[in-house]
Amino acid sequence: MKRASRKGAILPRLGGDGMMPTSMRAIVMRAHGGPDVLREEDFPDPGRRPGEVLVRVRACALNHLDLWTRRGGAGRSPAFPHILGNDIAGEIAALPAPIEGLTAGQRVMLSPGTSCGRCRMCLAGEDNSCRDYRILGAHVHGGYAELVRCPAANVVPIPDAIAFEDAAAFPLVFLTAWRMLVTRARLARDEDVLVWAAGSGVGMAAIQIAKVIGARVIATAGSEGKLAKARELGADATIDHHAQDVVAEVRGLTAKKGVEVVVEHTGQQTWERSILSLAHRGRLVTCGATTGPEGKTALRHLFAKQLTVMGSYMGSKADLLDAAALFFAGRLRPVVHEVLPLADAPRAHEMMEASRHFGKIVLKVG
Ligand SMILES: [Zn+2]
Repeated sequence: MKRASRKGAILPRLGGDGMMPTSMRAIVMRAHGGPDVLREEDFPDPGRRPGEVLVRVRACALNHLDLWTRRGGAGRSPAFPHILGNDIAGEIAALPAPIEGLTAGQRVMLSPGTSCGRCRMCLAGEDNSCRDYRILGAHVHGGYAELVRCPAANVVPIPDAIAFEDAAAFPLVFLTAWRMLVTRARLARDEDVLVWAAGSGVGMAAIQIAKVIGARVIATAGSEGKLAKARELGADATIDHHAQDVVAEVRGLTAKKGVEVVVEHTGQQTWERSILSLAHRGRLVTCGATTGPEGKTALRHLFAKQLTVMGSYMGSKADLLDAAALFFAGRLRPVVHEVLPLADAPRAHEMMEASRHFGKIVLKVG
């Protein structure tokens, strides 16, 4: 059975009851590998479950996590076939049972992490430390598809003024950066913060959040074009991390003091310089290791300067709601580098791997 025309279709193909979609277009992965393992195909729709919401995806942003999940080898692997996509915005397609505050057709974005909702961590608001924590598109099916299903607790209604492409570009990186700077490092007004890789999603989010807090931001990037964009986002000073000595520049910019906080998300290539850039009693907060898994630390810096190194993983649903309030008020804005059709997912992955983008690459669905 083929759909007569995809153009202008509002709903994926409908089943006999006229309500329940039976299949959808999706980018499906049946093995780990390069971008060519991402294939567009007809796939069974996600169905419905009590307490969960079926969402018609309108936009889905890429994250580095998509690349890790596609390549395999690190952490928990999804079951195949698998659908990628952590960052989703769209409309509620169906509610299996009424849920207060949610209605069919409502415009929403999704919190990317799901959890049991009942354990001690969940009840303490630390749902990203739940033993059942799962990420849409990494551990369960995500948004490279016309439909996705998720728990009602993950649904965040968005104002009409916010485009789906912007909403999709928001959750994962702003949630992560908010967790790092606000919840973990407790960045304070007038402190100095070093943000690596301003062109990355976490980088562009961290610069903006740090400026809202009232901190002074030193951002790095690998090209003059990206440095100029970092300054447009509010960075007070910028450093070319390929052409310049980052540690020396940080010392120069802070009267030899160093920065109180480093936003570290690149790992091996930057770790040692992150440690050396810290002021006495400085805090290094890390959420990732995109350039390699190991970092060298001279321990004498750790104890003599009384440094704190802290890990940060995703963020709680409350972290996302706190960040989203500033997004909806126009004080934080995701930077969208390019919007591509869903079918171009392999090309979108190649673009991300080439690392020439500034901000988010977004897939438009439907
Ligand atoms: Zn839990």
